[in-house]
Amino acid sequence: MGDNIISLTDLRYAAAVPRVPALAAPPSGLLADRLGRPLRDLRISVTDRCNFRCSYCMPKEVFDARYPFLPQSSLLSFEEISRLARLFAAHGVQKLRLTGGEPLLRRHIEVLIAQLATVRTPLALPLDITLTTNGSLLARKAQALRDAGLQRVTVSLDALDDTVFRRMNDVDFPVADVLQGIEAALRAGLAPVKVNMVVKRGVNDHEIVPLARHVRDRFGPAVVLRFIEYMDVGATNGWRMDEVLPSAQVLQRLGDAFPLERMEASVAGETAQRWRYADGGGEIGLISSVTQAFCGDCNRARLSTEGKLFLCLFAHGGHDLRALLRGGAHGVACSDEQIAAAIGLIWNERQDQYSALRSAAGAGAGAGAAESQAGRRIEMHYIGG
Ligand code: SAM
Ligand code: SF4
Ligand code: SF4
Repeated sequence: MGDNIISLTDLRYAAAVPRVPALAAPPSGLLADRLGRPLRDLRISVTDRCNFRCSYCMPKEVFDARYPFLPQSSLLSFEEISRLARLFAAHGVQKLRLTGGEPLLRRHIEVLIAQLATVRTPLALPLDITLTTNGSLLARKAQALRDAGLQRVTVSLDALDDTVFRRMNDVDFPVADVLQGIEAALRAGLAPVKVNMVVKRGVNDHEIVPLARHVRDRFGPAVVLRFIEYMDVGATNGWRMDEVLPSAQVLQRLGDAFPLERMEASVAGETAQRWRYADGGGEIGLISSVTQAFCGDCNRARLSTEGKLFLCLFAHGGHDLRALLRGGAHGVACSDEQIAAAIGLIWNERQDQYSALRSAAGAGAGAGAAESQAGRRIEMHYIGG
């Protein structure tokens, strides 16, 4: 198998068929990339479809009825995903996050979760299994997800005000149903629930304090609200730096409303800066993806819906693991040992640090810096958040 062959099965995003080294030691769980970063977190996109059209992710004008979503045959099957998850666990992955698109749209997702719940680390420990959802189907599915082995959920919620929320999801979906989904998740034991709010200046930044107050009063410490800087992912959302509200300003607004205390990071590679309400009312997080890059300890890899491995949210190209699983036009299907060896080599060669480089070049460089690189950037709904 060659090194730089572009997969013909789907040319949406460049993906080389990975090289399979002839000789490789079995996975040790101690893999490191060129910057010494381990591989701990695998985000798996289970569908590229979504029932929302958030303007910062899947703007309606682009993702309309004519948009060519992936055919079912392109998607990794549950067995293929579970097989890869086992190989990633052997390489040191401890946490799996199912995402998309909207992961709860993938039929029988609980069957996949049950399969993933059987995966073990080299020390025979189960993996931490979580899922990120827009919450629209959560009230219906929370208990089944929990029963299948899901441990926690992250729910995206960008506003408390119903009018603002309906405008942001752009399909007129009511906020009350998402709040009920969060309640159902808590009832099912998927706690603590994380709630993510993407903040866009001039669009929903006036919702920061009202949402924080509502979450605090209604759910208390069982829900952790996190504020995410609007990022320049993909190529369709028309990102502009002046629409980013830096986390420092989010913090200032929250601090004016509630006394806050800084908390320590709980695990290495954590993306959120953690704060708690001084009165014990709960915790909040700030994810400063634009203004304070956290590439230095980024231990995350992303597996797209059709089995391409991406090493950075801002990568231009991936590594076609599906070609190794299925063989087909590219040769014979590979063994577990061969695929594990290929993954090890890919991670060993990783040197992605897009946000850190963008910060070094000046934060405003975002979209422009990316445009100057070859290839089209992957969309968030395809690679997963
Ligand atoms: N549909 C699910 C959801 O919305 O939670 C899962 C997939 S979504 C792509 C994952 C996360 O990415 C969500 O929390 C969403 O808010 C976030 N996201 C999408 N586009 C973003 C952007 N341009 N900047 C920051 N976060 C973004
Ligand atoms: Fe769908 Fe999530 Fe993207 Fe919104 S952020 S369009 S809910 S995938
Ligand atoms: Fe990781 Fe890439 Fe984000 Fe940096 S920009 S934190 S390397 S995903």
